Amino acid sequence: MPHASTIVTCNGPDCPNAFDIVPLQPRNGTLDAVCPVCKGHGQWNNEIDLVSFRCKRTICDHCHGAGWVETGDDPVLLPDIEMTAGGYPKWTTRFAPKGEVAAPAPDQARLILP
Ligand SMILES: [Zn+2]
Repeated sequence: MPHASTIVTCNGPDCPNAFDIVPLQPRNGTLDAVCPVCKGHGQWNNEIDLVSFRCKRTICDHCHGAGWVETGDDPVLLPDIEMTAGGYPKWTTRFAPKGEVAAPAPDQARLILP
């Protein structure tokens, strides 16, 4: 059965509905400043239905979803995926020097893109 919907598409974090119902990320204690791109949310809506509030979101490339960024030279904790001995992927975290923190090119990402 169809339901009422008002779907809004957002082109990026500057759109008026980009941060609707997206919570601010708590500061984890090691990062220094609110991310200038996502304003501390870590992600934004690609698409949101203003009736049901169902949404599709994009993770911020600048802070990798943390909502906070490092301004000094401390290493940055990143989410990552590694393969277990049993052949299954497993979520993990790793430290990377600030200079090495960059979004991987889609063809170098470990996950298969649609
Ligand atoms: Zn961000």
